[in-house]
Amino acid sequence: MKIAIVGAGIGGLTAAALLNEQGHEVKIFEKNSQVSEVGAGIGIGGNVIEKLGKHDLAKGIKNVGQVIDTMEVLDDKNNMLSKMKLKKNTVNLTMTRQSLIDIIKSYVPNQIIFTNHHVTDIDNGALKVTLHFETQEQESFDLCIGADGIHAKTREVTVPNSKPIYQGYTVFRGLVEDVDIKHTNIAKEYWSKKGRVGIVPLLNNQAYWFISINAKEKDTKMQSYGKPHLQARFNHFPNEVRKILDKQSETDILLHDIYDLNPLKSFIYQRVVLLGDAAHATTPNMGQGAGQAMEDAIILANCIASYDFDEALQRYDKLRVKHTKKVTLRSRKIGKIAQRRNRFVVAVRNAIAKMIPNKLISNQTRFLYKSKQK
Ligand SMILES: Cc1cc2nc3c(=O)[nH]c(=O)nc-3n(C[C@H](O)[C@H](O)[C@H](O)COP(=O)(O)OP(=O)(O)OC[C@H]3O[C@@H](n4cnc5c(N)ncnc54)[C@H](O)[C@@H]3O)c2cc1C
Repeated sequence: MKIAIVGAGIGGLTAAALLNEQGHEVKIFEKNSQVSEVGAGIGIGGNVIEKLGKHDLAKGIKNVGQVIDTMEVLDDKNNMLSKMKLKKNTVNLTMTRQSLIDIIKSYVPNQIIFTNHHVTDIDNGALKVTLHFETQEQESFDLCIGADGIHAKTREVTVPNSKPIYQGYTVFRGLVEDVDIKHTNIAKEYWSKKGRVGIVPLLNNQAYWFISINAKEKDTKMQSYGKPHLQARFNHFPNEVRKILDKQSETDILLHDIYDLNPLKSFIYQRVVLLGDAAHATTPNMGQGAGQAMEDAIILANCIASYDFDEALQRYDKLRVKHTKKVTLRSRKIGKIAQRRNRFVVAVRNAIAKMIPNKLISNQTRFLYKSKQK
């Protein structure tokens, strides 16, 4: 089958690697001049590693990943609000985004990656799909996989009324070297009415941090924030937070407003299949966006290998639409709870969080492991 993949992000590259291995004629188109990833670190859950099974990619990802087995939520005075032990016998990893992209890309032959290829329009039909590029070129395929992210052209063409929804908070992120984290297997979040700070250990004494603050969309005040503003805002936080911010360079701080999509009813539109953020962009609260994009790619490739064309697409839709809807809605809800700002509401929330048994919290992510593979 001749397959086009639009977008060489985490989802598109994973699909390209797996479908190319199956012997399909795959071309992956990326609008940028290189395949690279903006961003500090990323978490890849054990649910993804499990679905990769014996594929070498799982080994590659494990090699660059720091194992995390516990997630803690504390308040700004270092009091524990909740502690979640990640599922036993699973490998939850954190790594730099670039190392993840590099590993996946190493399974995709260079000659099938076409950078500087911006897809500007798509003619989708019952028998073939034609991509149009900014260069005025065009090419037809049996299948187009839309892996072009939250602002996807492939979604705009197939589901024009689906638009990203701003969730009311913005996230600063950074990567720091040479840090001295006592428990490198624990990722932490500190919640307060001023915002939420996360610290995530990586291999080789690196860590990434994020700070999410309630703000207007494209807030100019937030855009003017640098390291000193963040330090001032969080200077009453525990030492660990202050030490991480101290290590951050003045530049290289990323800022992104947080959006997600209302769940779609289908990811299949004739010969266009949506995957990853293009299909179900989610808030980062469960650390599952990239993981779900990779799962889409794995399951789509499994379905294509196991069923005829129409059945494969239907099966992919059945397995992914409902599952990713649950992730998106749960992640959105966690964001709403975590981003509370009113002092009274925060106090009540924290008191309730302390009372919820840790086991119950840990069970909240069990469903991630339950989805079928084909
Ligand atoms: C603050 C923050 C923290 C996050 N943390 C985590 C985490 O810890 N764990 C996790 O799993 N996820 C996390 N995510 C989510 C994760 O980053 C995304 O879900 C993931 O990158 C989506 O991958 P993708 O391949 O679907 O899309 P993208 O990574 O967006 O890739 C899309 C690609 O398509 C290209 N493209 C776009 N339009 C076109 C076009 N018209 N023609 C050609 N190419 C095009 C783009 O240039 C890009 O390379 C986080 C997100 C944010 C914002």
